[in-house]
Amino acid sequence: MEIEFLGAAGTVTGSKFLVHNHGTQILVDCGMFQGFKELRELNWKDFPFDTKDINAVVLTHAHLDHCGALPLLVKRGFKGPIYCTEPTLELTEIILLDSAKIQEEDADYANRKGFSKHTPALPLYTTEDVERTLPLLKPVKLHAPFQIGSLTINYFSSGHILGAASVSVSNESKKIHFSGDLGRYSDPLMPEPEAPPEANFVVMESTYGDRDHSAVLSKDVLKKCILEITKSRGVLLIPSFAVGRAQNLLFEITELKKSGEIPVQIPVYFNSPMGLEVSKLYEKYHDFHRLGSGQFAEIMAEIHCVKTAEDSKALNDDKSGPKIIIAASGMMTGGRVLHHVKAFGSDPRNMILLAGFQTPGTRGHSLLNGAKEIKIHGLYVDINCKVVSSDSFSAHADRTELIRWLKSGPNKPERVFLVHGESLAADELRKRINRDLSLDTVVPRMGQAIAVN
Ligand SMILES: [Zn+2]
Repeated sequence: MEIEFLGAAGTVTGSKFLVHNHGTQILVDCGMFQGFKELRELNWKDFPFDTKDINAVVLTHAHLDHCGALPLLVKRGFKGPIYCTEPTLELTEIILLDSAKIQEEDADYANRKGFSKHTPALPLYTTEDVERTLPLLKPVKLHAPFQIGSLTINYFSSGHILGAASVSVSNESKKIHFSGDLGRYSDPLMPEPEAPPEANFVVMESTYGDRDHSAVLSKDVLKKCILEITKSRGVLLIPSFAVGRAQNLLFEITELKKSGEIPVQIPVYFNSPMGLEVSKLYEKYHDFHRLGSGQFAEIMAEIHCVKTAEDSKALNDDKSGPKIIIAASGMMTGGRVLHHVKAFGSDPRNMILLAGFQTPGTRGHSLLNGAKEIKIHGLYVDINCKVVSSDSFSAHADRTELIRWLKSGPNKPERVFLVHGESLAADELRKRINRDLSLDTVVPRMGQAIAVN
């Protein structure tokens, strides 16, 4: 057996691992590269394999950096099944359609405004490409092993977002366990990541391999920010992933109102049509999180859902506060949040709360590093509002939790491969695992093929 590390190697995005075994080839995740331009440009390159040779894709979860390149795979000739859990299947449909739409709109906008260096600016893939991809998605159950050629696949819950999974891939003699993205043990909504099964090799994420999250609860960070904008009568703008993060934020704000810790009358605007659809899936698949049936619908009944572009513009025209706006995308790479930053970013009464991981090269990362202006749609926008960041909202295990998860398996793996982390984070975790668990641990290079026999 051999693993080729074709993405998320030495970096966080573009997850793509090709497993070969006696003529069977499967791709574990097929994610989009995000962040720096040189990474994004990788999306336009041919895959380093023949798409027709791939038997199947095994998808861990619905985040774009794991599923976002599936339409490219199909556009370039792949016709096989794409396996995933039921919630992941429905989330992937929503996310890929949205991704195609954003790319089409961005290309269109760039062409109309003439600020793209490429003429004409093109989308990476279209809605049509996505529509050809969706029928290939096939639902699988957790803990129900199935066969792809000479390989056996088994899914385990990873806690990270709705439907997210770790995946075990084995041949007749060896087992590789892919962690996927691992959630936190104390997430308010998602269950704990399941312990890995027996495995010879573990391919583990390392997003936060070099640090522990703050011990301050996300609920308390929110409370502090909301009380501050209540006083300044400002706007609290929270750029958020529409999947996972947004639902956690809505849940915690509702809890704060219920307990009287923040004024109940502060309006909360959820400006993400995709996020709304996702929230319905949180209701439908309540078995996959900690809340009971009906509880998520109750939360959504109290939120102002912004549906049309006109409503979104009207929200920008009304400068009165206090109010809370949650809008995608989480790293401000696109989406409606950009228009809100243009509308509210220059007013010192307002506040932007960065509640998620910010990949280098994104606007969110620039703000995190104190940028006083950011470029949006070809123009510079002054940032005079307060910018607050917290890793308490993270949907990713931190260093201590990654090690806890690795130790929770029934055996000591022969080797651990660290992926899905910036080089520094992955290398720090490598040293820590070497030292504390005496496990052979490596950080594969992008494109590296490693035999696992
Ligand atoms: Zn993820």
